[in-house]
Amino acid sequence: MSSDSQISPSFSLETDTHMHTIASTHAYSTILELATYAKKAGLGVIAITDHGPALPDAPHEWHFSNLHILPPVIHGVRVLHGVEANIMDYAGNLDLCKSIQKDLDWVIASYHEPCCKPGTVEELTTSYLHLAENEEVDVIGHSGRGRYVYDYDRVLPVFKKKNKLVEINSNTLSKGKGSKEHCHKIVGLCKKYAVPVVVNSDAHSCFDVGNTKAALHLLAEEGYPQEWIVNRTAQSLADWILKKKGRNILEEPVSR
Ligand SMILES: [Zn+2]
Ligand SMILES: [Zn+2]
Repeated sequence: MSSDSQISPSFSLETDTHMHTIASTHAYSTILELATYAKKAGLGVIAITDHGPALPDAPHEWHFSNLHILPPVIHGVRVLHGVEANIMDYAGNLDLCKSIQKDLDWVIASYHEPCCKPGTVEELTTSYLHLAENEEVDVIGHSGRGRYVYDYDRVLPVFKKKNKLVEINSNTLSKGKGSKEHCHKIVGLCKKYAVPVVVNSDAHSCFDVGNTKAALHLLAEEGYPQEWIVNRTAQSLADWILKKKGRNILEEPVSR
């Protein structure tokens, strides 16, 4: 690994692929506000990823099937249509039908307590191995939350093999119950097994868009190479999506 690949304190990302609009009622900004602040933060691409319908604060599934009416570029920022779907059980099932998952640009799958209580390491390992088989899922959301511990050594190489990106979520690092320690373990093993990651803010207001400092600091501490961060540039993110879905997100849109 060359010294160029080390994450320096001045390194920043060009994209942020996990954030919530007011469609998730414990978030506080509109799409327009998120795009405006993304532009100010120097981001070229963002993904709007409101919670899947099973979470109490979430929009109806029509929110996700109607996202196509929005302009692809808002205030000069490419806005991807996504979801943070809920994993509902220990079999890796999600709360959004497959046809809607397929139509979205970006599908994150995450555990949240109101939808599925934390299980045993074995239950969660089995669940994530099933989830890895779902072709529509792009990202494994904030799996470093300390309450949902799985067998990292067993599952992370499978995520790589099945083309799932492991999210290092900056917001999670401020949550309790050993999240930081688990995120360190996950990043260390992603480095060991060369598993690609995405680094996101999980912003619940426009003021946090692009705020990934804590996650990048953790990656730097573990010596994780910046080249393996799939959303480091708009182009690297677009390349990954093109390879997986056969669509170029940077060429499709008509600017408005
Ligand atoms: Zn979440
Ligand atoms: Zn979220």
